[in-house]
Amino acid sequence: MRLPVDRWNPEAEIIARAARALREGRLVAFPTETVYGLGADGLDEAAVRAIYRAKGRPSDNPLILHLADVAGAERVAFVDDRARRLMDLFWPGPLTLVLPARCGVVPAVTRGGLETVALRMPSHPVALALIEAAGLPVAAPSANRSGRPSPTEAEAVEEDLGEAVAIILDGGSTDVGVESTVVDATGPSLLLLRPGALPLERIEETEGVVDLPRKGEGRRSPGTRYRHYAPDRPLLLWDETLQWESLQGAVGYIGIEAPSRPVAVEVRFRTVEDYARGLFSALRHLERSGVDLIVAQWPRREGLGLALRDRLLRASGRG
Ligand code: AMP
Ligand code: MG
Repeated sequence: MRLPVDRWNPEAEIIARAARALREGRLVAFPTETVYGLGADGLDEAAVRAIYRAKGRPSDNPLILHLADVAGAERVAFVDDRARRLMDLFWPGPLTLVLPARCGVVPAVTRGGLETVALRMPSHPVALALIEAAGLPVAAPSANRSGRPSPTEAEAVEEDLGEAVAIILDGGSTDVGVESTVVDATGPSLLLLRPGALPLERIEETEGVVDLPRKGEGRRSPGTRYRHYAPDRPLLLWDETLQWESLQGAVGYIGIEAPSRPVAVEVRFRTVEDYARGLFSALRHLERSGVDLIVAQWPRREGLGLALRDRLLRASGRG
């Protein structure tokens, strides 16, 4: 059931109802500042299994626990000084920290069998109100079928998950449009597991260089092994290797600059922030518009460009 909710001032009655559903072990989809999340009680094994089932998500791909404050983080993980500093700087917001888990508290299914757990405190008023009202760490991956573009509006959640969710809180379009930045903070230096909505430069301003996983070195974030974010059409990247002349059929285009030749459908953005905000809904729109393939402009590697490159690369099947 889809319930409209006031983004800035969510109605207490609606939040209470959704919180009750979570406490009863059911699934609730809700907006965050990044994308829509598919939430369940992160400490309830059966509820967490229902998330994996609804998404068709591989069971070794752990979930992020969403919390309403730092105290909530301390109940489920070991939080050291560096982690606390990062939380003070960037929470609430789109930074996910991977920390050593309190394994007796957080079930193994939530952790994907690892001894660490991923944590984040979202800034979206609806997400925060829901987590607070539920009084639980809310496990929430993106509310799409596994492998599909992430949902940035409630309609996309309904399209992918429909009946599997008890309640979809509809707070309109999300702000950033790409998922959180995931940083492993268990080792001596910070390691970027997934570029995302918090630009890497912002973290490096205070923490110095954050390591990037090296190619070929078994990546430490299970989720990055899987094809992801993909529309049901081939997606090509417009970089220096793309041969516009050889494209066959109706072409859909997304990007900031004008495409090199006329295309059947184009979605243009003004800035890299707009591109990030609109990427996933543009991919879904182009699928529906019946084009044969999609060309996406390859953005520069700065700010949100880093996250966009990651999502586009994996949507193209090359990541
Ligand atoms: P999603 O919830 O689909 O946005 O993805 C969450 C991302 O965080 C995935 O790439 C997961 O593999 C990653 N992640 C979650 N928990 C952990 C963990 N304990 N260690 C490493 N990566 C994690
Ligand atoms: Mg996802």
